[in-house]
Amino acid sequence: MITRKEAERLDASDPLAPLRDRFVLPDGLVYLDGNSLGAMPKAVPARVAGAVSREWGEGLVRSWNDAGWIDLPRRVGDRIARLVGAGPGEVVCTDSTSVNVFKVLSAALALRPGRSTILSEEGNFPTDLYMAEGLARLVGDGRRLRLVPKGEILSALDGDTAVLLLTHVDYRTGERHDLPAVTRAAHAAGALAIWDLAHTAGAMPVDLTASGADFAVGCGYKYLCGGPGAPAFLWVAPRNQETFVQPLSGWLGHAEPFAFEPGYRPAAGVSRFLCGTPPILSMTALDAALDVLLEADLALVRGKSERLTSFFVEAVEQLCGDAVRLVSPREPSRRGSQVSFSHPDGYAVMRALVARGVVGDFRAPDVLRFGFAPLYVRFVDAWDAAGALAEVLSSHAHERPEFRLRSAVT
Ligand SMILES: *Cc1c(COP(=O)(O)O)cnc(C)c1O
Repeated sequence: MITRKEAERLDASDPLAPLRDRFVLPDGLVYLDGNSLGAMPKAVPARVAGAVSREWGEGLVRSWNDAGWIDLPRRVGDRIARLVGAGPGEVVCTDSTSVNVFKVLSAALALRPGRSTILSEEGNFPTDLYMAEGLARLVGDGRRLRLVPKGEILSALDGDTAVLLLTHVDYRTGERHDLPAVTRAAHAAGALAIWDLAHTAGAMPVDLTASGADFAVGCGYKYLCGGPGAPAFLWVAPRNQETFVQPLSGWLGHAEPFAFEPGYRPAAGVSRFLCGTPPILSMTALDAALDVLLEADLALVRGKSERLTSFFVEAVEQLCGDAVRLVSPREPSRRGSQVSFSHPDGYAVMRALVARGVVGDFRAPDVLRFGFAPLYVRFVDAWDAAGALAEVLSSHAHERPEFRLRSAVT
């Protein structure tokens, strides 16, 4: 049997506990949705206010040089690189994850002429699949997206597979792929490997360099805490840097944007993945958020994440019995930093939980999803969330009609 006392004891011995104070977290709220929108670091408002009033208000157009705006995508990219095991000059912060999937997938396809299949899994995050579908349609020439269940990915790799496109941590179940092993299998079949790190970056270490992967993309507003709609990032393995082309050949990916030449010449390296003018204000928010993320030792972050998610699983099973069913892997090393349970009335259960100040989210068809951002979620939060879930289920609070109305965003 575990207790709230046990949670308090675990918080007291948590080396990351002091970092919680660096985030704005409303009193009384248990926030378990940092895998959808990360909490705001306290340093963000002042940094953004400075960018607005000094850099924009007073510096005006001079700030492209004086405040270094023009290099911000590369500077922020280099900082994100440290969180994902990449080197300087290998990552840029730019566009959205969806657009970045399109760009790296195009680049990868061009590196595998003569092969027509983009292989992914049925349960991959839909935007990745939609972008792949759109790209295959645009490129034509027999290119197609092939989807298989998670268990059949390795056996589906064959001589026609150009690219394997996967998300490292499953957004719905939290199940984690063995990134280096799956990459090796893709390479053994002659395919390239693209990884989406949306649920990885900032929540656990990953070593892109050692993994041998080819391209990666990731999200700025989840565990990286860059704020709503924060720009995303992408990584290119150094060996691919001078060989790839990408079709969104905007002026900021040109070798000399301010030469204003009529023809496109790609910039060297990863910079050619830039397209148009970067969103300086939201990139500044992300840059400020990275200060906190870069302070934390990622091995400690991962250790805490495993203990915290395990504690939550144990608490829910103890307090709720079999009213909900665990859909995440039980073995902590096989999951990311989230825990999902299913319940036939999952949407209403989550609405009732949110009404009690426990914020997770719902993923169709029946998944209650709880994200544990290790920098600011405590063991007592895990305990209290499990207690609130037990209360909702035993009181049938979720059966009230107001919890059945679907909002636009779940
Ligand atoms: C959240 C998420 C995205 C988001 O894409 P946007 O273009 O930023 O909306 C993409 N892929 C995965 C796997 C995600 O979890």
